[in-house]
Amino acid sequence: MGGFSVYDSVMASLLGEEPLSLTQELDLIAFGQRLRHLRKQRGLTLSDLGSRVSRAPSQLSLLENGKREPKLSLLKALATALGVPVEELLRRQPPNRRAQLEIALEEAQRDPIYAGLGLPRLKVSARVPNDVLEHLLGLYGELRARQARGTATPEEARVANAELRRRQREQGNYFPDIEKAAAEALEAVGYRTGALSQSMIQSLVTHFGYTVHTAQDLPRSVRSITDLRNRRIYVKHEQLGMHTPRTILLQTLGHLALGHDKPRDFADFLRQRTEANYFAAAVLVPEKAATLYLQEAKSDRALSVEDLRDVFAVSYEMAAHRFTNLATHHLGLVCHFVRNDAGGTIYKAYENDGIVFPADEQGAIEGQRMCLQWSGRQVFASPDRFSVYYQYSDSPTGTYFCVAHVDPSRERDFAITLGVPYKESRWFRGRETTNRTKSNCPSGDCCRRPPAELAERWEGYAWPSARANSHVLAALPPGSFPGVDEADVYTFLERHATTA
Ligand SMILES: [Zn+2]
Repeated sequence: MGGFSVYDSVMASLLGEEPLSLTQELDLIAFGQRLRHLRKQRGLTLSDLGSRVSRAPSQLSLLENGKREPKLSLLKALATALGVPVEELLRRQPPNRRAQLEIALEEAQRDPIYAGLGLPRLKVSARVPNDVLEHLLGLYGELRARQARGTATPEEARVANAELRRRQREQGNYFPDIEKAAAEALEAVGYRTGALSQSMIQSLVTHFGYTVHTAQDLPRSVRSITDLRNRRIYVKHEQLGMHTPRTILLQTLGHLALGHDKPRDFADFLRQRTEANYFAAAVLVPEKAATLYLQEAKSDRALSVEDLRDVFAVSYEMAAHRFTNLATHHLGLVCHFVRNDAGGTIYKAYENDGIVFPADEQGAIEGQRMCLQWSGRQVFASPDRFSVYYQYSDSPTGTYFCVAHVDPSRERDFAITLGVPYKESRWFRGRETTNRTKSNCPSGDCCRRPPAELAERWEGYAWPSARANSHVLAALPPGSFPGVDEADVYTFLERHATTA
């Protein structure tokens, strides 16, 4: 309800000005409540009032229930019959506490959230006591509040991401509990060494008491759906970089192994997802086997993310990420990890080596643009963007040795960078590179300021329209699992549960 009120428009027409339609301006529910209240106050039945205004009682009933809009002539007749001015009938404020409760409950029942419960409609008759109405409205309020909590705003998402990164940095990105859960699962299925075979992954699924089913009609918003009642995991048959079916399966098992409950809020959701990803990586690149391998490579001065990828048959991104889990705890190395697209937008980042990522006021890195001089952007300009690119990057916090690679297995090009402080380059393959750049960012004069002659020609003549980084931190659809439409998920489960 905005703009001028019904009251204004009716008064205007009563004063003989252009009559205005009541459509849209009249709050039918409030009007109906008020009408019923005034009628009852005067001890009139619907028939009594109906005869005074020459209308059938059923017609008045429709008005009182907010289901019909009164014509102006009827409005005037009703006002006369009830002995009140027209504006009294149109007042916004509900007449008393009872009417307020009735109005609120009528409105609540029309709310899609309430309607979505599929309960039979409650007819708010005079027999329903006030405290019952209050009770129902209390439940409705809580329902709304819970719904709202499941919806993360971009600000909440930023804060949650920054908090998660702080926690990771504190622990050197190493989480012993998850390592332990992964090691126990691997031991249960008799894993010894090397890459995890498909049959071993099947054994893991069985170990957790589940079966796997592939389905092509999974809702777009999900990677997998787990039917806890029938202990089934549904996955799509597709290969998308890090999210191959086996990774998705293991992430799902991660939620089970780590005893995750329905997430309380966005931060909880993010933590669970990160832990499940960690579990999947810890199963595919087992701590013991990988540590032995990396320690040997370090003593050979031949550390390489590529080799780790090949030995354990995982994506480059997972290998790089897994390297960050083990580097500080087992190899005594601090490092950083970053994933960005060709435009330099950062999607994921981690550091405990002092490198300063671009960040917003909330400390969020996701969605920020990285310096043009960093290897994650330089790799896109290198002659073969799909081969591994090495460079030394001078920055205000020191020089870093960085290895960047564009993962060709993804549908979109993302660069994955692993970096370490200069002095640690001696342990890595590719340290002999002569590529070297200098970055002054975050001050930005190394990459953001245009060359002087161009600036002179174009200053004041350019009006770019920025693209919001909505793909990174868009407001998420409501529900317990951010970004997932629960209606789709339930429909899917229903469809498959009955056909199986
Ligand atoms: Zn820069």
